[in-house]
Amino acid sequence: MTEEQADKPVAYDLIAIGGGSGGLAATQRAAEYGARCLVIERDGKLGGTCVNVGCVPKKVMWHAAEIAQVMRDAGNYGFRVDEPVHDWAALVARREAYIARLNGIYDRNLANKSVDWVTGEAAFIDSDTVRVGDIHYTAPHIIIATGGEPVVPELPGAELGVTSDGFFAMQTRPQRVAVVGSGYIAVELAGVLSSLGSDVDLYARYDSILRSLDPMLQQAAIAALVNHNVTVNLHSVPTELQSGAAGLQLQFENGSKGSPVDTLIWAVGRRPLTEKLGLDRAGVAITERGHVKVDRYQQSNVEGVYAIGDVTGQIELTPVAIAAGRRLSDRVFGGMEGRYLDYDNIPTVIFSHPPIGTVGMTEPQARAKFGDAAVTVYTAGFTPLYYGVLEHKVRADIKLVCAGEDERVVGVHIIGQSSDEILQGFAVAVKMGATKKDLDDTVAIHPTSAEELVTMR
Ligand SMILES: Cc1cc2nc3c(=O)[nH]c(=O)nc-3n(C[C@H](O)[C@H](O)[C@H](O)COP(=O)(O)OP(=O)(O)OC[C@H]3O[C@@H](n4cnc5c(N)ncnc54)[C@H](O)[C@@H]3O)c2cc1C
Repeated sequence: MTEEQADKPVAYDLIAIGGGSGGLAATQRAAEYGARCLVIERDGKLGGTCVNVGCVPKKVMWHAAEIAQVMRDAGNYGFRVDEPVHDWAALVARREAYIARLNGIYDRNLANKSVDWVTGEAAFIDSDTVRVGDIHYTAPHIIIATGGEPVVPELPGAELGVTSDGFFAMQTRPQRVAVVGSGYIAVELAGVLSSLGSDVDLYARYDSILRSLDPMLQQAAIAALVNHNVTVNLHSVPTELQSGAAGLQLQFENGSKGSPVDTLIWAVGRRPLTEKLGLDRAGVAITERGHVKVDRYQQSNVEGVYAIGDVTGQIELTPVAIAAGRRLSDRVFGGMEGRYLDYDNIPTVIFSHPPIGTVGMTEPQARAKFGDAAVTVYTAGFTPLYYGVLEHKVRADIKLVCAGEDERVVGVHIIGQSSDEILQGFAVAVKMGATKKDLDDTVAIHPTSAEELVTMR
């Protein structure tokens, strides 16, 4: 680096700090409008959490878990199969090779759109300049898209456990595992490990799991985990993690101890990566929990500084970060005045066994908003046809929450085989304002689980 470079910042129209889902989407969209863009990514590879230690490796592991279950089911379908042997390390090697290919694709995508990217940790110098090492970059528009990282609780011995990042780094499958947490990551990792042969204890702090979901889904999720050989321990507040001859052991507030395990996974939440950004130098306000405060346009309190994705603490999902980033660039560079992301009715799936799909309001939310008299609820519980010939049955449960005289569908909640794929179309219907009659008027596809959603009485 020359002195000139250190003195004179490199100028862009838009800088994104973070080369994950949000930063990549925003810069590529802005580049399509002709903006000169830079992505700064500290990890040396693109894709962020989703590609490297989130959605993608998680879904690969979920597929492996589903295959394990299908192989167990195969006998009842007339196949003669020996007890399957799973090679965890071989799966991890293929998964990581796939991720490396994706990293390359993301790199080429940026090059194709003439978006520059550099490796390094960015920090603000002022509201329109950031530094990476000794090099300064400036732009009238800077997007904070730094995402978050998993939290390790501040307890004695907590460092003996791993997080979801550590789960993806495992080269062998632990036999005895404790998963601490009650959110979707805890549920998903517990399910994968159990399917692939581990003995799993799930420890949740409160009286339920997945507590932001409709109560029906919470209950059904617990039943599904138990049916999947996961031991679910509610009201379990850990105070210490100890290591002894028998393995790692949790100590709980009520004096009890957990079963000794080989590996403990903390899945107790994520914190935003804002601490080292020098936000005070830019004057950017954050919440108590460290999320960047933004308005509906993803605009922070400082003009020209925006935030998108997990770092804002809004709905922490990849398509949300992407959608917010694209809409922001549409507005700032594409002349689409007033464009913003509507955070209502965002569908989401939990890749449990069976999967869970949910969009819109829970029943309690709808009752609180519209009043009991205006809310109608339809439920169905059944065993999908796939399980008809199987000894091991897995239930499906569905709830539609409708509001008003015309019974507008304001919530769709499903747990059961293929819910992950079924939900997207119903999310479109909810977003368009479909009524129960619209669903009733739609001819069913038979025999499927999805048909239950248009045949509810
Ligand atoms: C285990 C797991 C499973 C998940 N599964 C799903 C799923 O199935 N579906 C779904 O939609 N979402 C899922 N998510 C959530 C999803 O990964 C995130 O919502 C998404 O990645 C958020 O995108 P982002 O751009 O906000 O942040 P990220 O993707 O986290 O990207 C932020 C990037 O910023 C970089 N960075 C941070 N600080 C700096 C700095 N100072 N300078 C330069 N770079 C910096 C980071 O290295 C990172 O690459 C999952 C997450 C986890 C952890």
